[in-house]
Amino acid sequence: MVLDRPGAPTTRRQGQRIVRTVDPILVFGPWSERYDLGPGHPLTPRRFGPGIDLIRAVTAAAGGGPIRELAPEPASDDELRRVHDAHYIDVVRRFSEQPLGGWEAGLGPGDTPAFAGMHEAAAAVAGGSIRAMEAILRGEAGHALHPGGGLHHAMPDRASGFCVYDDPALAIARARRDGLRVLYVDLDVHHGDGVQAIHGDDPGVITLSIHQTGRTLFPGTGFVAELGEGTAAGTSLNLPLDPGTGERGWLAALRSVLPEVAATFRPDVVVSQHGADAHAWDPLADLRVTTTAMGAAARLVHSIAHRWAGGRWLATGGGGYDAYRVVPRAWSLVWLAASHLDAPAAVPTAWRERWAGEAERYGQAPLPDWLDDEPNAGLRLDGTQEAADRRAVETAGLLRELAVPALVRAATDLGWWSALDDLQPDGIGPASAGVAQSARTAGVRTPAPADHPEILDAVDAATWAGLGLADRVIPPGEPVAAHALVLAALRGGREVRVTAGVAGGLIVGAVVSAVPEGRRLLLGLGVAPDRRHRGLGAELLRRHIERGGGVPGTAGSEWPAGSAAAIEPWAAVVTVAERDPAEPLARAMREAIARRLLERVGFRIERAAGLVGAADPGAITARRG
Ligand SMILES: [Zn+2]
Ligand SMILES: [Zn+2]
Repeated sequence: MVLDRPGAPTTRRQGQRIVRTVDPILVFGPWSERYDLGPGHPLTPRRFGPGIDLIRAVTAAAGGGPIRELAPEPASDDELRRVHDAHYIDVVRRFSEQPLGGWEAGLGPGDTPAFAGMHEAAAAVAGGSIRAMEAILRGEAGHALHPGGGLHHAMPDRASGFCVYDDPALAIARARRDGLRVLYVDLDVHHGDGVQAIHGDDPGVITLSIHQTGRTLFPGTGFVAELGEGTAAGTSLNLPLDPGTGERGWLAALRSVLPEVAATFRPDVVVSQHGADAHAWDPLADLRVTTTAMGAAARLVHSIAHRWAGGRWLATGGGGYDAYRVVPRAWSLVWLAASHLDAPAAVPTAWRERWAGEAERYGQAPLPDWLDDEPNAGLRLDGTQEAADRRAVETAGLLRELAVPALVRAATDLGWWSALDDLQPDGIGPASAGVAQSARTAGVRTPAPADHPEILDAVDAATWAGLGLADRVIPPGEPVAAHALVLAALRGGREVRVTAGVAGGLIVGAVVSAVPEGRRLLLGLGVAPDRRHRGLGAELLRRHIERGGGVPGTAGSEWPAGSAAAIEPWAAVVTVAERDPAEPLARAMREAIARRLLERVGFRIERAAGLVGAADPGAITARRG
């Protein structure tokens, strides 16, 4: 792989495209080390010494040039108030001046002790993430890493879990002010509860947190069923993992959900939190993740930012309490991903020599030789871990049913199209050119919808290939990808049947079904936004069910009533995942519409059973014939 030198944007040829890489911004400065909760507190500013030093050392070792740095400064009260209550900010300021003032709003003796200058120091962490986001929004950088950021537990009105002001939530709020849709990925071992609480009612933000289950770890939340409400139902996503889950379960769970969620949601910007406390050696938690897996996760997030978010990616640090052996390597792997640099295998010797003494003093010696860990961090793979790894994959499977539309899941499972395979391994795409105008690139504009679309009962692959697909008809979010998915499905068998509404050469409505096993499964039904509310969806579904069973390629073949096609057994499972992510209707309304559409064509509706029904009370299963 070609190396790019940060500081001197370079071009490279990839496939047929020539792409330009921009160097990321490293957010660090004197204020970073002033966020200090006191001697002996696990979230120690001592981590910046070896951490920033290793980032610099590996950049040089990988052939990178000088690093662009952004020194955080305190955010203003106006900025903090976008997420935090004015009264809470006053309380923080009071404690900041008189740290020994008792206990209020989560501050005081305990996890988040007050300290002199706390308001400014915490506001500077917030300022670092907000400024980095602004640089990304202006197109000055595609990516930024703020190692001191990621204080994801802070709530609007209280401090929590070492966190005073919620810098990831504030950076997200900054992007939302510009109307951009945000995908937040939280890799810290603790649930990203503050960010979820702050943005949980906003359909323009998806929060996806993978963490040790709240049954056994602070903050005690982050279960699959916390999906959100109203128009934001389905935008709070959680992967709670059993203690002992290792790198295999953790990474497999993330890989099975995150790429599909991103492809479906199609964010304008990605914010990620890279707490290193999921590591096997971390003293505060019980997962067994490795730096190897953390690096792979960082590269996955990076690829997603390029593929679906125009390259806009703000990464933060987070927890991580093995400050010498783990945190520096975890940060460095995120940084190398953002810098488009291949990670050197070895930890630079000079770095180890510089920090060996201090690491020894704090009981975290010897420093590792390699950036990646030994398999399973050198721990024996026991039955408990194997069971936890299996459970992680099961939990991801459940979340997937609630987070990913059936069509996208079927495409992956049946080998038609995969959001994971769709990502380029090195994640390189066009660099961000800023988002002055809306970053939402509509796929193809639909023609003026005065005319009634022509309905093709059973579209074959050649016909589909010759038509365009309007934006927001069926998932994934990008119409080009959705078009490719259905084309692959039509070519891939499993008795795939597609009914389409076509106007001016453009598909403005579609129904897709297949027979993965036994019954014909309804996989997707959608209509372009400017064609909705006029019965087109109902008509497409009726035609799909009653007349779509023709010989493939002969649109419009009609089966006589009572024929095999008319009584073919059908099934559909509709969860909160089935929605237009760009403009979702309220959950109750979506459910009512799904019920009405399906009932009208003879489906019997039941509440979904099992874990899906328990997590999503509005989920339905429908059967016909
Ligand atoms: Zn944590
Ligand atoms: Zn990049």
